[in-house]
Amino acid sequence: MRRDDIATVLMIAMVWILSLSIGYLYQTLVISSRSTSAQTSDAVSALPVQTGDNQPPRILGIDEVQPVVSTSASFKIATDEELSPADSDGYSLELIEEDSGQYTYLVKLDNLAPGQNRMAISLSDYTGNVNQHQLSIDRLAVPECWDGRPRTIASAVFPHAIDTVVDKYYKLDSSYYPADLVNGAYSGIPVYHGGSAYVRVPVVQPLKQMLSDARAAGISVYVSSGFRSYAAQGRAHNYWTGLVGGGAANYFAALPGHSEHHLGTTVDLLTSENGYTISEAYENTRLGRWLQENAHKYGFVMSYPKGKEAITGYKYEPWHWRYLGIDHASRIRELGITPTEYLYSINKLACN
Ligand SMILES: [Zn+2]
Repeated sequence: MRRDDIATVLMIAMVWILSLSIGYLYQTLVISSRSTSAQTSDAVSALPVQTGDNQPPRILGIDEVQPVVSTSASFKIATDEELSPADSDGYSLELIEEDSGQYTYLVKLDNLAPGQNRMAISLSDYTGNVNQHQLSIDRLAVPECWDGRPRTIASAVFPHAIDTVVDKYYKLDSSYYPADLVNGAYSGIPVYHGGSAYVRVPVVQPLKQMLSDARAAGISVYVSSGFRSYAAQGRAHNYWTGLVGGGAANYFAALPGHSEHHLGTTVDLLTSENGYTISEAYENTRLGRWLQENAHKYGFVMSYPKGKEAITGYKYEPWHWRYLGIDHASRIRELGITPTEYLYSINKLACN
């Protein structure tokens, strides 16, 4: 190749590279200026929009819609325009606050079916511009098992599942033994003299944290009982049978296989405030009040609440706490139902 040819090839290559670079630079500049102008137009439309324009109402804020047990629910939604009254089946809108261009409405939903309800709420301004807001709300179908109907005993479904049901009608097999049981005392969980705190691995850290936070608040607390085997529960039941007789004993101690202690996710907690005793007065100790206020934040629920004996099958036990995880525990608290009803519902259990 001659020197002239080499120079020509080099020149062509340079021109080609230069044109590519210019093209790239041009694209970058144009695209970035386009996205800048897009941001500008967004910023403009974020200003309060007045009735009479062609913009649908914009949603400025909305409550998270929680699951319900009843057929109705309500939540708040804030828009940038006043809405025309909704005349739809299934929901209504009520203006509850107007503040500098922000309109807050209470949306009331009715006739919710059991299971998942999907619906669209029409947010319409007075010019007729509509913003269709899609939402989904769960209505838990709680079975009516506790109306005194005769029932039979079935095996607990998936005993290892954290949300399994163990009660008077769902029992654990005598051979069931949680595989991941550990001695909580070795993890620094305070154990009452003569008691024990065997729990499953997922329970250790939340339990330890809950008890250490209670203690940091100056509250005395100890675990008196965690996991109980089928045989140990049999002994506890026999003890109560000796004291109060066979029929009444079931109210104080579960029959073997029917105790949540057999799950390894449940503990009884004692405090020095009432001399480490279990009685109704427990609820008024600082520990009793603290647990009712805070236990759900660590994933624990009171399995046998006051006044719900017909559902739970057991007397009020403010010292008996079961670990279900923070999501379930918080949801049960929001719904205001017993853990028993909640667990039957999410496990879709029959009233066998
Ligand atoms: Zn207990």
